[in-house]
Amino acid sequence: MKSIVSILIVVVLLLGAAFGAQAKSEAKQYYQVSADSLNVRNDPSEKGEVIASLRKGDVVEVSDEAHGWLQVALNKTSGWVAGYYLVKTGSGGGKTTVSSGSSGAKSSAQTVQADSLRMRKGPGTGYSVVGGLYKGEAVTVIDRDGDWVKVKTPDGQQGWVASQYIGEGGGSSSGSGDSSSSGRLNGKLIVLDPGHGGDDPGMIGKESEAQEKDLNLETAFILADYLRDLGARVILTRSEDVKPSLPERVKISENNGADAFISIHYNSSTKNTSGTLTFYNKGKDKALARAIESELAEGAGGLRSNGISFGDYHVLRENSQVSALVELGFLSNEKDERIVRTKDYKRKAAKAIADGLVDYFN
Ligand SMILES: [Zn+2]
Repeated sequence: MKSIVSILIVVVLLLGAAFGAQAKSEAKQYYQVSADSLNVRNDPSEKGEVIASLRKGDVVEVSDEAHGWLQVALNKTSGWVAGYYLVKTGSGGGKTTVSSGSSGAKSSAQTVQADSLRMRKGPGTGYSVVGGLYKGEAVTVIDRDGDWVKVKTPDGQQGWVASQYIGEGGGSSSGSGDSSSSGRLNGKLIVLDPGHGGDDPGMIGKESEAQEKDLNLETAFILADYLRDLGARVILTRSEDVKPSLPERVKISENNGADAFISIHYNSSTKNTSGTLTFYNKGKDKALARAIESELAEGAGGLRSNGISFGDYHVLRENSQVSALVELGFLSNEKDERIVRTKDYKRKAAKAIADGLVDYFN
């Protein structure tokens, strides 16, 4: 009897080892990314190195929790993300595996042929845009549906594109159709700096108690998408509710050799001032400030532009890269506050800044 029990135990243990992965996955928890973009770090801390990036809607397996950070499974490894930006999902359906680095299968590697190509949530132009690709970018085809293919980028983004816009070789034809018009910021590296963050909320709305740090971040995410659509590479000084120091923000600009650095803020005043303001610090920054300001003046959705102005801000003053700081409305003004809290305004303001960058570089 004893030996049968032992054998049973051994069998159970063997089965456990053989099917460990499956058995565990049933107990695993799945979460969906709620932020537009979310850094995955090698440690459960803001200080951890960024090893991958997730996008809104990605579903990840969570295996551990520490100080508000959640451990998520990547392709061959795992990483940590701020738990605040993950929302629990009912099941593991639609699980997305995110690769870290360039560990994807090479067998179906393809290159983007169009100047700029939108990735969509599903196989058709009716699906929402989940990301952007640029000419020459390498992708791996992981699924196919008619004329559409699902691709994965080396940094783990996934989405559907029309198969005609990808192929082998460096990419020559600039597609139309689902490919966006431009690539007008091709090769440009833009550093976006959403002001404040963490324990520093920035200005607080008069009526709504909206916090500037959140408006800054939301605007930066929208702007980053526009800029990527235009072919730019974009780096954010923060993509979460944390507060990098001012020197750290400048360092990100300088270490990456930013072609332009844009700091995003919303303003406050004891007077009833309304509208946008665009700041420069040095002569080298003036043309950029002017380009952004004139687009804001034309199309920032209901707020007037107060022009450009000299600003003695650390992120401009200490920055050797071309830089500007925008104040996109006054949270101390009830009318401004109502306007800037809308998504529509943030889209228009972001579009104006993107157009200003295009004007500046072209
Ligand atoms: Zn501010």
